[in-house]
Amino acid sequence: MGVQSADVCSAAKMMQQVVAAVATLFSVAYSGYFLTHLARHLTRGSRAAPPSGTKAASAPPLAPSACKEEAKEEEESSELPAVLGDEGEHPALWEYNGEAPAVCDKDSGHLPVWDEDGGHPVAWEEEGSWAEHSDSSTALQPEGSGEWSLMQLRNTVSVGEPAEKYLELEQIGQGAFGTVSKGLDRATGGEVAIKKMSLRGQNRERAVNEVVVLKDKKNPNIVNSLDSFLVDGDLWLVMEYMDGGTLQDVVRQTRMAEGEMAAVSQECLQGLDFLHSIRVIHRDLKSSNILLGMDGSVKLADFGLCAQLSPEQDQCSSMVGTAHWMAPEVVTSSPYGPKVDIWSFGIVTIEMVEGEPPYFQQTGAMARALIRQNGTPQLQEPRRLSALLRDFLECSLEPDEERRYSAQELLQHPFLSSAKPLSSLTPLITAAKQLREQQRRR
Ligand code: ATP
Repeated sequence: MGVQSADVCSAAKMMQQVVAAVATLFSVAYSGYFLTHLARHLTRGSRAAPPSGTKAASAPPLAPSACKEEAKEEEESSELPAVLGDEGEHPALWEYNGEAPAVCDKDSGHLPVWDEDGGHPVAWEEEGSWAEHSDSSTALQPEGSGEWSLMQLRNTVSVGEPAEKYLELEQIGQGAFGTVSKGLDRATGGEVAIKKMSLRGQNRERAVNEVVVLKDKKNPNIVNSLDSFLVDGDLWLVMEYMDGGTLQDVVRQTRMAEGEMAAVSQECLQGLDFLHSIRVIHRDLKSSNILLGMDGSVKLADFGLCAQLSPEQDQCSSMVGTAHWMAPEVVTSSPYGPKVDIWSFGIVTIEMVEGEPPYFQQTGAMARALIRQNGTPQLQEPRRLSALLRDFLECSLEPDEERRYSAQELLQHPFLSSAKPLSSLTPLITAAKQLREQQRRR
């Protein structure tokens, strides 16, 4: 009996020791975790004051990329299930399960429609019609007002037959929302591009934006619209013709030198600075929406998803854009302003360096989860880049919108002083065109 009670006693003691050891281990592990996060936070906040024009003196490497498994877990826990089309290649409808979903338009509760291949922009669907710009900030789209959009268009477009003014030539492009053809201005013989967009369903708001927002607002770094017509329920938008293709062709087919990247960056930033000065956010900046001329001119295009802010409403909240180029504040459905374009521009700079945006092999949903988790993406080979380019990237890919540079501030960055003349882009554009032509023939 005595022996038994001694056994019980020592067993209880052992148990106590085990519990105490587990508790100690847990508190050490937890405080380690806490301290690591605190340290990361403090390091972020206390970056050395940068020399003039740069953000960080010693250009620290961009943030580490996330482990795929962690990202998957985060994705599973925080994203709503996506109902994908066949093979996941078609637009996906996110189920709305009663809670505010990460990708829901907070202003209106529209259901977002998502193209899971990440190649096309997000839009929003409500009762069969589309309202991509449901922000109250967008003056051009009062809720559910299709008639209003048509009225806007009718007041804006030219009267008459486009065929009388323009000779339509071959088709040169196809986007998710319409086709683009080359054309000639019959009066001047000048080349034009003619974009035809259906006004049925989802296209209407987008088409209104393309035509109305930038009407009469011209800039050398914007693909300016020249004319527009309503033809049998379609909208025809006549624009400046850019004969050098897209920046996407160049980044995919060639290797750019830093001086060439700086030249392209300078032109893009001038375009963004202009847009932001008139309170317009592009919201879908990516290399395929940057068009080139054979002379090396660089212009921002495709304003279908842009938002017009006003003095009363200086922020948006809809999740709009193309997944891999979205800023953290967009993927987290926070209110955002023009600096979302600066983030996307930073991703375009990575495209110039690496040929594709970060997480390009991932689906759109996974890319958004990684952007939310990682903030600033990691470069594949940061050591190959100059310190100035790394710093330039850090200034645009700053997750904190407040600290992220504006277009005007980035235009002062010393990296841009290495810009080569625009004519240096011509050989790259020619090479990209030839390679694309060869691929087409194969
Ligand atoms: P999405 O709208 O789905 O993002 P996208 O931007 O490629 O796709 P569009 O704006 O319709 O769609 O353009 C389709 C293609 O037409 C472009 O990739 C480009 O090759 C060509 N294109 C568009 N505008 C012009 C232009 N002004 N001059 C020359 N080519 C153009």
